[in-house]
Amino acid sequence: METAEEIRVNVSDYILTPLSCSYLIHEILKGLIYQKCQIPYPFSWLKSTINRRRGEESEAECEGLDLKPKTNINFTVEHHYRVASKFFDDFQNAMKEISQELSQNVVSEILILFGPTPVCPKEVCRIKVPLLASGHFEDSHINDALKHQHKALRQIFLSNIWMDSVDSAIPCTNTYIFIKRGDISDNMKYFKPCKPLSFHNNVKVYCINLKWECTRDQTCCKNLVVYNEIPDTNIENSIEPVESKQHEHLWFQFAHHLQGFKNCFINKTAVCELW
Ligand SMILES: [Zn+2]
Repeated sequence: METAEEIRVNVSDYILTPLSCSYLIHEILKGLIYQKCQIPYPFSWLKSTINRRRGEESEAECEGLDLKPKTNINFTVEHHYRVASKFFDDFQNAMKEISQELSQNVVSEILILFGPTPVCPKEVCRIKVPLLASGHFEDSHINDALKHQHKALRQIFLSNIWMDSVDSAIPCTNTYIFIKRGDISDNMKYFKPCKPLSFHNNVKVYCINLKWECTRDQTCCKNLVVYNEIPDTNIENSIEPVESKQHEHLWFQFAHHLQGFKNCFINKTAVCELW
């Protein structure tokens, strides 16, 4: 793991708060699973297609209708929908918990592993997370972050290392997600403690290193006191938790693997159109 190729991403246009970092990582992961061909269409398309079907289902339920008469069920279509649906839900659950952990400013690394099992991966993407800007009001910063995060994403998706990694195709396989964090957590529902990871030398490993430092005045909203608001007693402790606990980094594995899937066609129509 020491010889990983590194994509250095300078996040210099906005303040990398836990929420803005979470949005950035969400976009990186969505791009990663699509560009590594684990889903057959962009994540936004997957999301809208699944939501459309779920919307139709809940509408039919409200009206007491049986959406699809049993005789019309196409098992290929239904199976494809179920696989895609599970991928989508698992991904969203993983992302939700990653966001929750980022909000505590204790995550130092997120690791995405492609392969049939976690012990014999084909490819590994590491995302190194810097110490984030704690104590800000997220609402005051998120619009700025969303406006500028494309610059950070461009540094990744247009880098030579990324392009090379996309060129070297891997088959549709499983995706495993890990996080490395500064101390034990008993709040996590989906991530479970696991042994530290190490890989054989012939495993392709690349690293996205998010570089962000408190180099400019950040008194924006950090020290504002709102009257009648109960002070957050955790802020004091959460500003530099990683530094104080750096010696005890622990690994956690997402309890479900994401099973990649391909598009399939019935009479030249993509099955997702038939869900
Ligand atoms: Zn602020």
